[in-house]
Amino acid sequence: MPYTSTHPSPLDILGQVFGYSDFRGPQQAIVEHVVGGGDALVLMPTGGGKSLCYQIPAIARQNAGHGVTVVISPLIALMHDQVGALHEAGVSAAFLNSTQTQEESSALEKQLLRNELTLLYAAPERINTPRMKGLLGSLHERGLLSLFAIDEAHCVSQWGHDFRPEYRSLSLLHETFPDVPRIALTATADALTRQDMIERLKLEDAREFVSSFDRPNIRYTIVEKLEPTRQLLRFIESEHAGEAGIVYCQSRKRVEEIADMLQDAGLKAMAYHAGLDSALRQQRQDRFLREEGMVMVATIAFGMGIDKPDVRFVAHLDMPKNIEGYYQETGRAGRDGLPANAWMTYGLQDVVNQRRMIDTSETASEEFKQVMRGKLDALLSLAEDTRCRRASLLRYFGETMDSQQFSAGPPQGKLAPSGGSAAHEVASVGAHSYCGNCDNCLQPPVVWDATEAARKMLSCIYRVQQASGITFGAGHMMDILRGKATEKVLQHSHDKLSTFGIGADLSEVQWRGVLRQLIAKGMVRVDPDAFNTLQLLPDARQVLKGEVSLLLREQAAGGAGERRKKST
Ligand code: ADP
Ligand code: ZN
Repeated sequence: MPYTSTHPSPLDILGQVFGYSDFRGPQQAIVEHVVGGGDALVLMPTGGGKSLCYQIPAIARQNAGHGVTVVISPLIALMHDQVGALHEAGVSAAFLNSTQTQEESSALEKQLLRNELTLLYAAPERINTPRMKGLLGSLHERGLLSLFAIDEAHCVSQWGHDFRPEYRSLSLLHETFPDVPRIALTATADALTRQDMIERLKLEDAREFVSSFDRPNIRYTIVEKLEPTRQLLRFIESEHAGEAGIVYCQSRKRVEEIADMLQDAGLKAMAYHAGLDSALRQQRQDRFLREEGMVMVATIAFGMGIDKPDVRFVAHLDMPKNIEGYYQETGRAGRDGLPANAWMTYGLQDVVNQRRMIDTSETASEEFKQVMRGKLDALLSLAEDTRCRRASLLRYFGETMDSQQFSAGPPQGKLAPSGGSAAHEVASVGAHSYCGNCDNCLQPPVVWDATEAARKMLSCIYRVQQASGITFGAGHMMDILRGKATEKVLQHSHDKLSTFGIGADLSEVQWRGVLRQLIAKGMVRVDPDAFNTLQLLPDARQVLKGEVSLLLREQAAGGAGERRKKST
C-alpha cells in the first residue's frame, strides 16, 4: 500500500485541493501516519483543523487505490456543510441520511461499489443497520474500505460531556474489519474520558496526537452571581455591543426569560432550546449564522457543530456541569483567532442545583454519581480559584502552561483584612502561571483567609443540630452567625447558642462564599429532600481540626468582572 511519488503528496493535496500552503501544528504528522495506515487518536481544540486530518488521508489513500473513507459524526448539519465544501473543492463525497429515498440510497451504494467516492459521511446509528453492515462488508471484500474516521469520539464515553449510546457499537467496526485503519478525533477529553475512549474504541495501539488546548485569544472571566441579569446586560453592553454571542442558561424557562430581557434592552436576541420545534430551531440557528450581531440565548442543546468564526463572547449565566462542558461551550467563541470573551456568573444556588441533579438522579449508578461530583468540584475550584484561570483549565486537561509564551511577569496578590484571622502572605497569586488574559491575571483578586469563618460556620451547623435535633437552611445559619434575631431565630432560641453573632463582622456575600466552598469541598451538604437544610459531612473535621485552611476571593460589590475596563 505504500503511496508513491506518482501520487500527489499530502502537502500537494493541502495546496491543490484546500488552497492552504502549510500544515498547522501536528496536522502533517497525523496525516502522514494515517496515510501510511496507522491508527490515530487526535486531541485537538475546536478550530484546530481536525477535518483535514482525515480528509487529506482520505484523498491520498483513494488515489493509491484503497477506496472510500467512512466518516462517522453525530452532527448532521456539520456533515452536510462538509460534503458541500468538499464538492466545491472537487472531492467526491456524500452522506448517508435517514431522509434519503430507497432509490437515492441504492444509487449511493452503486457509486460506492464502483469506487467513485472518496468520503462517505454517516451518523453512528446508520453504521449499525444491517444494510450498512452488508455494504461495508462488500466494500471490504473488494478492498475498497480505506479508513474509518470517528469524529467527536468522546461521545463514546459516558464520562464525556456528550455521551451517545450509538457510539458504543462503533467498536464493532474494528472487530469486523481489523485491518482497516482508524482515526478518532475529539476536541475535548480529560484524562478519564480519554482512557475510557481508548478502551471503548479499542484504540490501545493507536498513536496519540495531543495538541495544546490553549485558546490564547479567549479571555476567561468568572464572577459571582449577584444580580445576574443586570450583570449580563452590563457585560454585553460594555464589551460586546452589536457583536455576536451565545448566552447559556440552565433551563428552557430561563432561556426564554433572558432572551426577552435582552430584547427589551434593545438587543438582537433569540431563544433556543430543545422544547422549540425543529423548524423554528433551524430558522434561529440560520439567523444566528447569517445575521451580524445576533445573541443566541440557549440551553446546551445549542452549539455543537455550529461553525461560526466570529462569535465574540460566550456567557454562562448558570454554571455548566463540569470543566469539559465549560471548555467546549466557551470554545465556540473566537474561532477566527480574534479576541473573544468567555464570561460566567455562578453562585451558591448553581452548586446546590448541580449537586441535587447528581444526587437525585434515578438512572445513574453510585460510581457515576461519584465521578460527576468530582467533576463538579473541579469546575467549582476553577470558579473559586484565585490564580490564572487558563493555567487551571489547562492543568485539568493534563497540560502545563508554557511560561515562555507569556512575557509579562506575574503580579503580586493582595491580601485583604480578613474576618478576624491573622493576615499572612498569599502565595496563591504570584508564584504561579500568568497568562495576562484572564480576570485573575489582569486584576489579581484580593483574597482573604476564611479558615476561621469556615470553622464558625461548621460549628454553627453543629450547634444548631445539637440544640434542636434538626438542621436548617443557609439563610437561617447566616442569620445566627450574623446575630440577627429574626422571628425564626427567636422561636428556636438560636439566639442563645454560643455561635449567635460570632460572625457579625462578615457580610452575607462573604458568608455565601464560605458556604459555597464548604459545599464544593464536600464538607457540607445541602439536603434536597429536607428543605435544603445544611448537613455536616465527615470531611468537615479537617477544618474543625485545623488541618486545612481556606482562602477565598474577596468579592467586589459589583462582581469582579465589572471592575474591568474594555480592553480590545
Ligand atoms: P475543528 O474541526 O478542529 O474544529 P476545522 O477542521 O473545522 O477545525 O478547521 C478550522 C478552520 O481552520 C477551518 O476553516 C479550516 O479550513 C482551517 N484550517 C485547517 N487547517 C488549516 C491549515 N493547515 N491552514 C489554514 N487553514 C486551516
Ligand atoms: Zn491568566
